[in-house]
Amino acid sequence: MNVIYNFSAGPAMIPQDVLCKAQKELKNWNNLGCSIMEISHRTQEFYEVIKEAEKDLRDLLNISDNYTILLCQGGARGQFSAIPMNLIRNFSGADYINSGYWSNSAFLESKKYCTSKSILIRKIKNNQTYLLKPSQWNISDISAYIHYCPNETIDGLSLYEEPSFHKKIVIGDFSSFILSRPIDIEQYGLIYASAQKNIGPSGITIIIIRKDLIGYASKLCPSVFNYNIIYKYNSMFNTPPTFAWYLSGLVFKWLKKQGGIKKIAQLNKEKSDLLYQVIDNSDFYINNINKKNRSQMNVVFHLFNPELDKIFLEESKKNGLYALKGHLVVGGIRASIYNAMPLEGVKKLVKFMLFFEQKYG
Ligand SMILES: *Cc1c(COP(=O)(O)O)cnc(C)c1O
Repeated sequence: MNVIYNFSAGPAMIPQDVLCKAQKELKNWNNLGCSIMEISHRTQEFYEVIKEAEKDLRDLLNISDNYTILLCQGGARGQFSAIPMNLIRNFSGADYINSGYWSNSAFLESKKYCTSKSILIRKIKNNQTYLLKPSQWNISDISAYIHYCPNETIDGLSLYEEPSFHKKIVIGDFSSFILSRPIDIEQYGLIYASAQKNIGPSGITIIIIRKDLIGYASKLCPSVFNYNIIYKYNSMFNTPPTFAWYLSGLVFKWLKKQGGIKKIAQLNKEKSDLLYQVIDNSDFYINNINKKNRSQMNVVFHLFNPELDKIFLEESKKNGLYALKGHLVVGGIRASIYNAMPLEGVKKLVKFMLFFEQKYG
């Protein structure tokens, strides 16, 4: 079988080692004679799986006991509603840092529950898009929390400075950022991520929340989204997506084996540098984002002649490079290179880009 490299933005690549292990034990997991999908989430065996997954995630991200990890369904978009319902408390509004498609979507959803304020931090100078630093954000004196998104998956924009506001609760949508580089959890009240970008299969959403923020859900908050209920039931108030949970656990083990998050972060930088170098060395490929705010996870660019987009996508696919089409709202090309994308995959894309430029440039 020819090796293919999958640049999909999500659901995205899962490490080969993880898929092979899951395949090997698919029909006979843990010598039970059946699949892990077929056993109750309340068995001792499954309990061991989640205990282990939680421990590994805590190790990887250095999560202290002040925080608890909740697992939820409904994706990151579910959290766009759950967050205001759980954390608005007796405040009237919250601050939403607006840097692109996803943070704006979170803002729009929150308006159903509170009078949120959108703080636009995306700017253009000398034809380059950049993001205002946290110290430049015009936040409110009084607000329940500050919500932001460190990696805009669709726009290819990242914010690498971690926001630190005295006595303010900072919330981050880390869906395409989590586990890609070290972070200081203590700066946040809550971070959340749907799994299908940088963790595992879709269906599971990870919420890392400071314990003192639990217990303030509004009366109308659905029980499946109520952090206090999820916490009390160890994320098993309703039946969890057990297979997604198990597979995520395998990914955490794989990450540890790769040397942990610091090591992964170096590799992620190396991978994205390779692509941005090709883009910057040519007039054929264009990315107008300031170097400080370029995403290492989602490298977006367009061709100087948009009519070539289609040919680029067709030919790259023939060369075993899949899913490079940019999101509908921005067009162009997007190479999502999460943790599971090996360096060889990026090198192959680089080679293809140089070849394509020679042919059509
Ligand atoms: C993909 C994504 C979402 C949406 O996730 P769902 O699981 O589909 O709800 C939200 N925010 C960011 C940053 C994303 O990348």
